[in-house]
Amino acid sequence: MALTVLTTTAELQQYTRARLREGKTLALVPTMGFLHDGHTSLMKEGVRRADVVAASIFVNPTQFGPKEDLSTYPRDRDGDLAKCEAAGVTVMFLPEPQAMYPQGFQTYVTVEKVSQGLCGDRRPGHFRGVATVVTKLLTLFRPEVALFGEKDFQQLCVIRALAKDLDLGVEIVGMPTVREADGLAKSSRNSYLSADERQRAVAISRGLFAAQAAFMSGTTRADSLTELVRAQLRAATIREDYVELRDEATLEPLTQIVSGQRARLFVAGFLGKTRLIDNVRVG
Ligand code: AMP
Repeated sequence: MALTVLTTTAELQQYTRARLREGKTLALVPTMGFLHDGHTSLMKEGVRRADVVAASIFVNPTQFGPKEDLSTYPRDRDGDLAKCEAAGVTVMFLPEPQAMYPQGFQTYVTVEKVSQGLCGDRRPGHFRGVATVVTKLLTLFRPEVALFGEKDFQQLCVIRALAKDLDLGVEIVGMPTVREADGLAKSSRNSYLSADERQRAVAISRGLFAAQAAFMSGTTRADSLTELVRAQLRAATIREDYVELRDEATLEPLTQIVSGQRARLFVAGFLGKTRLIDNVRVG
C-alpha cells in the first residue's frame, strides 16, 4: 500500500478524524529517524496489533541540550521512508520544527519522579522535551497503541506515566532492545563511532551481560553488579556517565536486589564525543 506522508498538524488532524470515522485502529511509532532494525521491530509489532501503523520522524529540538548533537543528528529521509514502507507503515508524519513549535509555543509536559536521576540528571530538560513531543503526537494521532523501545527504558517509564496520568487512553507497549551480532544495542548514534570506537563500544553490553550472569550465580549487591560493568568500561576506555541499579517499576535506586524483585542495570558512557546508553533486566 502506498505511503501517506503528512507534514502539518492540520493535515494530521484531518487524517485522524477520517480514520476514527472509518473505525480503524492505529499503532504509532514515534522516532527521530535514521532508522535501524530496532525501529522496524516496533513497526512490525504495530502491524500485529492494529489495522494501520503510523510512524513519525522528528528530531525534536526541545529534548536536546545546548551542547548536544541536534545539528549533527544523522538523517536519511528517503532511506527511512523505504524502511517504514517495507515494515508495513502506511502513514508517516514528518513535521518541521515550526509545525510542532510555532511562534508563541509555551506549554510543556513534565513527568516528575521517573524523569529524575540517570539521563534526567545528565541531560537537564531532556525528558520535558520528550514528554511534550510525545504528548503532542499522542494527541494528534489518537492511537490505540504506541510502541517504544526498552533501549530507552527511562523514556519508556516517562511515557507510561504521562499516558496514564493524562488519561490519554493509549496502550503503551515496550519492546525488547535489538542488538548487533556482538551485543551492542542498535542506535542511530552508533553511526558517529570510528572503527576503533565501534570495537570498544561492545564493552557496554559485555559488562551488562557479565552482571546479568553474576546475578544468576547469586550476586545481588548493587556495588558488585555495577563494578562488573565499570571494569568492562575501564578496559575499553569508555568514560562512564553513570552505571546504576534501579527498580524496574519505580526507577528507585537499589543497593541490593531482594528475592522476586525486578531490577535493571543502566549504563551511559562516552566514546569520544558519542554518548551511548544501554540497560538490561537483572532479577
Ligand atoms: P529514536 O529514533 O532513537 O528516538 O528511537 C525511536 C524509538 O525506537 C524509541 O522508542 C526507542 O526506544 C526505539 N529504539 C531505539 N533503538 C532501539 C533498539 N536497539 N531496540 C529497540 N528499540 C529501539
